[in-house]
Amino acid sequence: MSADSEAAAARPERLAGALLTVDLAALQANYRRLVAEGAGTPVAAVVKADAYGLGAERAAPALWQAGARIFFVALPDEALVLRRVLPPEAEVYVLGGLFGAGAERDYRAAGIRPVLNSLEEIARWQRIAEAEGRPLAACLHVDTGMSRLGLPPEELAVLAAEPDRLAGIELAYVISHLACGDWGGDPMNGEQLAAFRAARERLPAAPASLANSPGSFLGPDFRFDLLRPGAALYGVNPTPGGANPMAQVVRLQGRILQVRVVDPPRSVGYGAAFRAARRTVVATVGLGYADGFLRSLSGRPKAWVTTRTAGGKEGAAVAVPLVGRVSMDLITLDVTDLVEAPPVGSFVDLLGPGQDVDALAEAAGTIGYEILTALGGRYRRIYRGA
Ligand SMILES: *Cc1c(COP(=O)(O)O)cnc(C)c1O
Repeated sequence: MSADSEAAAARPERLAGALLTVDLAALQANYRRLVAEGAGTPVAAVVKADAYGLGAERAAPALWQAGARIFFVALPDEALVLRRVLPPEAEVYVLGGLFGAGAERDYRAAGIRPVLNSLEEIARWQRIAEAEGRPLAACLHVDTGMSRLGLPPEELAVLAAEPDRLAGIELAYVISHLACGDWGGDPMNGEQLAAFRAARERLPAAPASLANSPGSFLGPDFRFDLLRPGAALYGVNPTPGGANPMAQVVRLQGRILQVRVVDPPRSVGYGAAFRAARRTVVATVGLGYADGFLRSLSGRPKAWVTTRTAGGKEGAAVAVPLVGRVSMDLITLDVTDLVEAPPVGSFVDLLGPGQDVDALAEAAGTIGYEILTALGGRYRRIYRGA
């Protein structure tokens, strides 16, 4: 956590606008669920983008505790954060490669490892290994159909013909990435699997890794020597269309700031997008698109209000619709049909038991990955089960 967010976390909850609760025990259970799915195949943890928005400084040590020893991030900056919070034995790989000229020296100084994506990066890593006079570990990414990162076919052919280019590099894993793993029936999965096997045959023998979260559920052929899930760890369904085998890790609650009556024909929010057709009780909640509650959710999902009995005990959670536009700091709920309007100052659930990350993503026309990584920095973050 940054000094700012640490200071915020220390302030009393009465000052919080919205709460983001991260269940680290659920995160660890999801890690173990993936180990079981892979029938014991080692499982790396992909913790790029601040552990998909949940906070890598808390998530990575929890994953280490659950047994993860290999970690993947996208950027060197993210790897440096991990180096600070993980034991030195943890292997930290940067998917994006070697970045700017000379960065390989920074990698060595910090004890982080690249995923090599090109002949040029292989040469840079080889030169620094040569200078140090000892083999240096790295992953090697071969492109089997994503056409973003990794050795393109023509560079693989060069490497196959000139294997000395890898001298001095300890190939920890040869990896590739699936384009359509989230649809098990897609013929592209089989094509990439065949291309990956063929690529391995042209390279020196080395352990291999192909499966991301959905790929981890495609069966034994896709496991190789290491699973490489990210999203599933954080509760996103790795088997879209089927039941979600993962536990929910995130709960998002917004605070009710004001409750008012809106009589027809008055409207609510920007663009007057909602106009009262009846006497409407509107609860204004303190979170908005600046918190990653996407504007495309305007009028789409529901919020869950926990009802209370006369004695103040918690009752059932009741769904109420969002009305009007999502604005920067506020959303508005139609609570007319509740027997009693929720009290000002109380919290409603936006992500949680009633509506998981995939359901919210569907309402927004996106994927759970984007919902999680869009979560902003303004929440009061609560880590449970550490
Ligand atoms: C992000 C990423 C992963 C993890 O993908 P999920 O679908 O989140 O499991 C694995 N491998 C690579 C190369 C990635 O970029």
